[in-house]
Amino acid sequence: TTALKAPPLDPILDDIVRSHRPQQETGSVPANIPLLAAVPFDRFGIAVATTSGEVFSSGDADVPFSIQSISKVFTLAMALRGDSSGILWSRVLREPSGTSFNSLVQLELEHGIPRNPFINAGALVVTDHLMEETSDAAAQVLRFLTAQAASTGPFIDEAAAASELASSSRNRALAHFLKGFGNLKQPAESVVQNYVRQCSIMMTCVELAKAGLFLARDGHGSLGTVVSPSDAKRIGSIMLTCGMYDAAGEFAYRVGLPGKSGVGGGILVIVPGVCAICVWSPRLDAKGNSLAGTAALADLSDRTGWSVF
Ligand code: GLN
Repeated sequence: TTALKAPPLDPILDDIVRSHRPQQETGSVPANIPLLAAVPFDRFGIAVATTSGEVFSSGDADVPFSIQSISKVFTLAMALRGDSSGILWSRVLREPSGTSFNSLVQLELEHGIPRNPFINAGALVVTDHLMEETSDAAAQVLRFLTAQAASTGPFIDEAAAASELASSSRNRALAHFLKGFGNLKQPAESVVQNYVRQCSIMMTCVELAKAGLFLARDGHGSLGTVVSPSDAKRIGSIMLTCGMYDAAGEFAYRVGLPGKSGVGGGILVIVPGVCAICVWSPRLDAKGNSLAGTAALADLSDRTGWSVF
């Protein structure tokens, strides 16, 4: 890891926005969330929150977007924080799946134990775990993000949640399959609802970079310890191996940093000891990861030397 150094960040980020903001519509929109298709294709924002407390940003970095699966990083941190017995790791594995984020096929082979906490099946188990503390787990996730981002901006887009819930057959299938194997404690429908609402949280690049900073700071957030240094390391490792689903290998090759994508077009990336980065551009590649966002991060990592390698 190279320390934050020489090249001043503001001109680099401006240049990244100039080079990567889509000029014409390419890529796709999430098939299962009709409302997200309406987001203009040329939105592009980037923000960097450093461990020394500075925030740099450019483009649409203050425009709220749907965080979707980026929420899975935070629910995992919240679940690990309260899991001194380690029960969570008996319910979900830590292996890359090599399959799409909403795949059902491995769940049967692994007897109802999802391959990792970042595919939908694993995230449903994590949300179920959080629901043991409170039935409104999504509201708890929102409170956590509001506190970590030190911003009252984040909110749940109930219209987007409703739009997704109306076409959540696959997530319902996953939840009932998990329930059938005894790996969900709460009713399947309540888990899906909490999961979809946690995915529908709206945040800006600046807010997400600040909220993710604890992972670059050995688990220390703006208000104190979020997770132990060991768990911060482990969450980063799972991001590197599983954060981009069946494109995790390609993303590691191109960017060299732990990242987590969402079908809203956001990607949160951690540079341990240095910064958290959030990039957002809504159009997706075939694996459901932001097309322009991935290209921009590859470019940024090459230009700054930021990488875990
Ligand atoms: N809410 C979305 C879903 O369950 C999240 C998927 C994603 O961001 N990869 O399909």
